[in-house]
Amino acid sequence: MDLRRRPPPNATAAAKRPTTTTTTTTPPKASDALPLPLYLTNAIFFTLFFSVAYYLLHRWRDKIRTSTPLHLLTFSEISAIVSLIASFIYLLGFFGIDFVQSFIARNSNDAWEEEEENEQQKLEQHRRATQILPTPPPQPQQPETLIPSISSADDEEIVCSVVDGRTPSYSLESRIGDCFRAAAIRRDALQRVTGRSLKGLPLEGFDYDSILGQCCEMPVGYVQIPVGVAGPLLLDGVQYVVPMATTEGCLVASTNRGCKAISACGGASSVVLRDGMSRAPVVRFGTAKRAAELKFFLEDPLNFDTLSVVFNRSSRFARLQGVQCAMAGKNVYLRFTCSTGDAMGMNMVSKGVQNVLDFLQNDFPDMDVIGISGNYCSDKKPAAVNWIEGRGKSIVCEAIIKEEVVTKVLKTNVAALVELNMLKNLAGSAVAGALGGYNAHASNIVSAIFLATGQDPAQNVESSHCITMMESVNEGRDLHISVTMPSIEVGTVGGGTQLASQSACLNLLGVKGASKESPGSNSRLLAKIVAGAVLAGELSLMSAIAAGQLVRSHMKYNRSSRDVSNCTS
Ligand code: ADP
Repeated sequence: MDLRRRPPPNATAAAKRPTTTTTTTTPPKASDALPLPLYLTNAIFFTLFFSVAYYLLHRWRDKIRTSTPLHLLTFSEISAIVSLIASFIYLLGFFGIDFVQSFIARNSNDAWEEEEENEQQKLEQHRRATQILPTPPPQPQQPETLIPSISSADDEEIVCSVVDGRTPSYSLESRIGDCFRAAAIRRDALQRVTGRSLKGLPLEGFDYDSILGQCCEMPVGYVQIPVGVAGPLLLDGVQYVVPMATTEGCLVASTNRGCKAISACGGASSVVLRDGMSRAPVVRFGTAKRAAELKFFLEDPLNFDTLSVVFNRSSRFARLQGVQCAMAGKNVYLRFTCSTGDAMGMNMVSKGVQNVLDFLQNDFPDMDVIGISGNYCSDKKPAAVNWIEGRGKSIVCEAIIKEEVVTKVLKTNVAALVELNMLKNLAGSAVAGALGGYNAHASNIVSAIFLATGQDPAQNVESSHCITMMESVNEGRDLHISVTMPSIEVGTVGGGTQLASQSACLNLLGVKGASKESPGSNSRLLAKIVAGAVLAGELSLMSAIAAGQLVRSHMKYNRSSRDVSNCTS
């Protein structure tokens, strides 16, 4: 800030004054070119200006008296005019520019000072608001220290070959046959190519073999996300401690408070309304009429058994539930839905769909399969079809929260909650044009549980569809709260669920892996727990908003007091 400060006015004036000590270094001035001393030149031009001005005015008066035309000039008059102009230009150059400049300078100084004052005020306000120390002067940028991950000369040779492009980075695992070494070599090569350090991204402590070919390609480390626990959540008579991976302060604490309130009132209960994963290829025909024939064929109940046999060959867990067809001209979107056991089921349903498409080519040889996914599925995108028809597990979960718990644990009252829910989650979301977003923050809880338990985080999009309802019951004393979530897409086998940390979180919930007794019951239970935790999260956040606590608690739990300026890259 001080660097930008202009010298004060008296300092500027002082700087203008000639000083004896600076004679040797004073830059040459225009007046140095004059043959006479400056004061003498000034005096001559002053005298000249006023005398010729006087002379010309005098001549002008005489001409008017004698009715002589003004434009008829004598030689002496012409000389006087030239002298007048010359002396005027000199005097203007000497005094006038300084005079004009002094105005300009004063104005710009004023503006600067005003701007600086405003800026000072803003900085002061910002400093008070954030309570941070003044920004230290910028340090010269140091070259980053690249920490090597490799040890042997052999590895050094491979790193060099990756850096200069002789070995493709993606081929390291198959060439070396050791996933950890491959990750270390790739990481070193990456640091050298980019000149950027990966310090802080851990390499050790992860089983890179477990992700090979299924979870992540070209690994160079892993990201750590803290896992907190909320609960116990009393759901359908059983207590669950819910793992949540998040970096959002307050979230676990808030969900925990909701669990406490629910448990204090006898717990929540849940129902699985539907369980089916969908995949919808798009196929094209020459005419819309022919496309409609396929639609009628697939939706005819008489053909269902045949289609099921073909579809279910894909897996012992895949069971076709139905096909729903939508048309766009001569294109048909075939939304197949099937149960998938304990798997989230995208692979399983895709294989079943492929079987049916191959089979259909016999009766519909003119069918052109454009894509195995035509977005009518609809995966990882907000879509009304999932909100209305459901995808994955459709769950409803409810609880009755007693008046005293609303007051003592949630610090609000039933009427305030019911009103807030109506105006925010229902009317507010309608005003916003929400699609499945009739809730306060379902996606917060869904994402945190998804990350902790190895679900596909991108499916948070449709898995967070939720309508939260709140009504007063028991003569208006107690609160009935429910969440209805039509498309929770979870699995307990496959994908990221088999990784060590995620598997441990599933184990905590008692839903790790495949259920031997009743395939699909683990993934359905996981979906119910997700909905139960969402219920707790909704209850707590809505209460915080109704009681006006939201900002206060976020300032307490969600704002680090550490100096963030040290964390910048
Ligand atoms: P997704 O279909 O969710 O992508 P994967 O295909 O990766 O899942 O994983 C499912 C795999 O797990 C299948 O090979 C399936 O045969 C196997 N599996 C074992 N037990 C079960 C079960 N109870 N439910 C579903 N799949 C199971």
